[in-house]
Amino acid sequence: MANKALIAGNWKMNTTLDSAQELIRDLLKQIPPDVNADIAVYPPFTVLYQLGELLKDSVVALGAQDLFWEEKGAYTGEISAAQIRDSGATLVLAGHSERRHVIGEDNETVHRKVMAALKGRLDACLCVGEKQEQRESGQTSDIVQSQLKSGLKDVDPSDISKVTIAYEPVWAIGTGLTATPEQAQEVHLFIRKLLKELYGEKAGEIRILYGGSAKPQNAAQLLSMPDVDGLLVGGASLDAESFAGIINAAGSSTAAWGGKLPYMKNRA
Ligand code: PEP
Repeated sequence: MANKALIAGNWKMNTTLDSAQELIRDLLKQIPPDVNADIAVYPPFTVLYQLGELLKDSVVALGAQDLFWEEKGAYTGEISAAQIRDSGATLVLAGHSERRHVIGEDNETVHRKVMAALKGRLDACLCVGEKQEQRESGQTSDIVQSQLKSGLKDVDPSDISKVTIAYEPVWAIGTGLTATPEQAQEVHLFIRKLLKELYGEKAGEIRILYGGSAKPQNAAQLLSMPDVDGLLVGGASLDAESFAGIINAAGSSTAAWGGKLPYMKNRA
């Protein structure tokens, strides 16, 4: 079975069509043909279709950064799973910390989004993580547990292989502060145990990514941790060379995850 890390780039509200196409073209040039990692990018909605065309025959999977839980209707400004699929994307993030803490999404909202993604045949990446003050007051486990359990509530075991978890300590996102590999591993192991309680052996099919100021210089160390199955990368994914540097670090890691995401571009 494949033993590959997943390196995913969250572009947030960056790029317009020209710069997005340029970034993808640059990135594709830098990915070695025998790359030993799964790769995904989550660009803004507005460029998904065009990037989907560029990525069609590539190893890079395409995702959206968010979705709405209803299938259609009077929800001005929102976007459904079917519309995301229509654009060519097959993955989606749910509960990114900026959605939780800037936009104000709560656990119930995130849960609905996870369910809508799975129903709409998208692989969902559920993001969890504590704020600085929560870590300092010893609440990391409680916060992560409640975000995880409510995000996955009602997710049937038959669907769990479509889910990825991203542990992203809020204090490390976009701040230049990275969790130490040991800090990341401690929380990843905690998440793995929770997943085992919820899904038994199927927990091994769920990849747990770390996110928070990952860069080429720290990627290999983070990925060397036994329960770090990949990285969700923000800032460094906006530079093709940096993102490719992280992908290369992943290629030489021995990520333990051995499952397959149904909609990811899995290769032998
Ligand atoms: C993110 O947005 O998910 C993220 C991890 O950002 P950064 O790498 O910039 O900290």
